[in-house]
Amino acid sequence: MQLKSSSKLYDVCIVGSGAGGGMAAHVLTRAGADVVMLEAGGYWDNSRDSAMLSWPYQSPRRGASTRERPFGEFDACVGGWDIEGEPYTRAEGTQFDWWRARMLGGRTNHWGRISLRFGPDDFRGKSLDGLGDDWPISYDDLAPYYDRVDRLIGIFGSNEGLRNHPGGVFHPPPKPRCYELLVKRAADKLGVTCIPARMSVITKPHNGRAACHYCGQCGRGCMTNSNFSSPNTLIFPARKTGKLTLLTNAMAREVSTDDAGLASGVSYVDKRTGTDRHVRARIVVLAASACESARLLLNSRSSRFPQGIANSSGAAGKYLTDTTGTDVAGFIPKMVNHVPHNEDGVGGGHLYMPWWIDNKKLDFPRGYHVEIWGGLGVPSYGFGGGIHRYPSGGGYGKNLKEDYRRYYGSTVGFSGRGEMIPNADSYCEIDPVVKDKWGIPVLRFHWKWSEHEYKQVKHMQETFRALIAEMGGEVFSPMPTREQGYSIAAGGRIIHELGTTRMGNDPNTSVLDRNCQAHDVRNLFVADGGPFVSQADKNPTWTIMALAMRTAEHIVEQRKGGTL
Ligand SMILES: Cc1cc2nc3c(=O)[nH]c(=O)nc-3n(C[C@H](O)[C@H](O)[C@H](O)COP(=O)(O)OP(=O)(O)OC[C@H]3O[C@@H](n4cnc5c(N)ncnc54)[C@H](O)[C@@H]3O)c2cc1C
Ligand code: SF4
Repeated sequence: MQLKSSSKLYDVCIVGSGAGGGMAAHVLTRAGADVVMLEAGGYWDNSRDSAMLSWPYQSPRRGASTRERPFGEFDACVGGWDIEGEPYTRAEGTQFDWWRARMLGGRTNHWGRISLRFGPDDFRGKSLDGLGDDWPISYDDLAPYYDRVDRLIGIFGSNEGLRNHPGGVFHPPPKPRCYELLVKRAADKLGVTCIPARMSVITKPHNGRAACHYCGQCGRGCMTNSNFSSPNTLIFPARKTGKLTLLTNAMAREVSTDDAGLASGVSYVDKRTGTDRHVRARIVVLAASACESARLLLNSRSSRFPQGIANSSGAAGKYLTDTTGTDVAGFIPKMVNHVPHNEDGVGGGHLYMPWWIDNKKLDFPRGYHVEIWGGLGVPSYGFGGGIHRYPSGGGYGKNLKEDYRRYYGSTVGFSGRGEMIPNADSYCEIDPVVKDKWGIPVLRFHWKWSEHEYKQVKHMQETFRALIAEMGGEVFSPMPTREQGYSIAAGGRIIHELGTTRMGNDPNTSVLDRNCQAHDVRNLFVADGGPFVSQADKNPTWTIMALAMRTAEHIVEQRKGGTL
């Protein structure tokens, strides 16, 4: 196909504007590189577009979800599990759901902002228990980048001296709320570590941004820029350098190559007109999210790269993992008829529980952390569902309204988020038949949890039930059975897909080297969750950004040295 190509030859083309793409753009433009960024979604600026201060009654829908805003119409997200014209498929028997954002900043507009570093053990799992693989880099390699991400973006937390949960450069954390103090008391009794949360919300003015005013609406996007999103902290400052050309509604189709087998740019669809275009660049950085970057590699086939560009190892799409997850909520009678008080805070828990057990005492490898929820935030659409299960709850009219008031805030919930070990049955590949509305072949997912994950999730369920019992509470749902998978969330549901373009020292088993540079194509890089060799008992985004910063600086060094 003859494509309309950009007359300009950019230094770098970045695909995707989320956590990884934003960080790469920030570093590269500051170093003077001429960068073009392709973003499949539309423009979004939280200081202008956020619904941060809207009340549910301001909308006839009362904030209920829509197809493109599955977490509610006030949520900052544009995207979801099911995007018009952009299908994906699942192999028979596979349960896997793929969340995709389609907006400037990607998922960083409405993510939970839980910002955890991986610990030293998380980079060397195989050395410790023989499972999966070690990373080609260590915590010490990444620690300086974590520090700089902390300083650049701003994060609150507390330094606790926990060996595999390293601290950071923290703003003071907000105080626990009432229900969190009850949880903490129960956790202390049961020997479960419970400490201040670590979230990328600033509690002091930071780099020209205002401190958080505790409206609890982080998921809607913060109008005062007090939490992190890729546009407010990375992309808009990058644009101020005059070095960033931003092309929104630009859906990348494939990476093009020259006669020497190097990347020469990226072809894309201009979604507004449906026309195919091409942008020329000396270096290509894929940051379209782990699975989408793998899709781009696999779809960039040529006689030189018959399995897709940078995929001589066959590892692209393989080693796909998601975080394990399950939730339990309980009714806490001592919180009924609460004294009304203001417990506003950040949009998320003020405490969390990092992994606290030595695996030698357990029948499963690796760990999980616990996220805590509850409290008295603004009621949203559907709140109080299931009130008939509370003692004397339900009915009609005045009694029902009184019950809503009495019981509001008397539920506490726990969400476990744990480490899955990569396995040969969990991967994505190109579907041989199905294409999206622009004719781009789509991904087909394969997925299987192993016994490791089921046992881990069983432990989560037991722990959460014990915590609720210790609080004098009641869980309305029975303990799920093995046949019910202990209520493990389906693959993809925790939205932490990683590992599809993994890094490694051996080009036969990995796509990228230790600098996230493709083994096969030296001017091609990946800067999202694809390079991860393993999950951890932590959410991944702080590590995505530390890695992206390191990768972008490596590009800067190589450009200076004349090797790129
Ligand atoms: C509700 C929710 C809560 C979360 N909570 C947390 C949390 O608390 N802590 C945590 O660490 N992580 C959390 N995550 C995960 C976190 O959002 C992701 O790990 C992170 O955003 C990944 O960054 P990324 O740059 O790889 O991808 P994304 O942020 O998804 O950005 C990718 C971008 O690439 C664009 N794109 C995709 N395909 C193409 C294409 N072909 N051409 C051009 N552009 C393309 C997309 O439109 C998107 O803007 C959460 C996610 C969600 C949805
Ligand atoms: S809680 Fe703080 S960071 Fe979150 S939206 Fe409100 S002001 Fe912004």
